[in-house]
Amino acid sequence: MNCPNGHGIMPLKKIEKKILFRDVAVSIASRLHVCPVCKLEAGTVEQTAELQKAIADAYRKKVGLLTGDDIRTLRKKAHSTQDELAGRMGIGIASIKRWEGSQIQTKSMDQALRRALVALRPASDLNGNRDLSIPRIKLVLTHFESCLGFRLIEGNDRMLFAAKYLWYADMAACRDLGASMTGATYAALPYGPQLNNYKDLLGLIKKSDTKKAEPLAAEEQHIIAAIARAFPSGKKVYNAAHREAIWKRTAVGAIIPYSAASELTEI
Ligand SMILES: [Zn+2]
Repeated sequence: MNCPNGHGIMPLKKIEKKILFRDVAVSIASRLHVCPVCKLEAGTVEQTAELQKAIADAYRKKVGLLTGDDIRTLRKKAHSTQDELAGRMGIGIASIKRWEGSQIQTKSMDQALRRALVALRPASDLNGNRDLSIPRIKLVLTHFESCLGFRLIEGNDRMLFAAKYLWYADMAACRDLGASMTGATYAALPYGPQLNNYKDLLGLIKKSDTKKAEPLAAEEQHIIAAIARAFPSGKKVYNAAHREAIWKRTAVGAIIPYSAASELTEI
């Protein structure tokens, strides 16, 4: 590309800029042709598109929206096509294509996207190949209580330690036996893995009848006993869960997939 001011060839340069976009300061890196004499900048059609995408993604990252790459990566993880995602949201495929490119979605569409991307995940990733059973959650916790010798359900409204023991039992069972124990879904929260929507579940767990649960298999009881031996106190299980890379790398509030169970390091 030649300088329109007659200074000859404009070499391609990597540029880093801080710009104001929609009143938000963003830093972007891109490639542009720059004239060494008059500093004029120009880009090919492809480079201009690349720059636009870099700005849109830097902005989305800064304000907490999914970037184009985030949307594509999460969609691929759900083994879903653009068409399926659009169908799930009841919108046209063109919107998905634009958002995976450089068009910025609204906050409400961002939330709808996140919900649809979770819903598209294979059920096995969310429940570990078992339908959610509230009585079984109580049964597993009761079994933990008898192994540990202290209470996990009563007087612990935040389920802080109970949720960590449950998480280990479900993940380890999915990894070692091919199915979780309770079918519960877990979210990555700042204080560790927690039952997804635990506020809604807590009362139901306390009230549920363990006699309605499928009894624990011997292999399941062995896993619970091994976890109780490895983490004999609430503090130990809490600290162990916080060392797990699969919790650390999951975004706050996002689901920890059962497919990551093989990467547990503490049990
Ligand atoms: Zn020039």
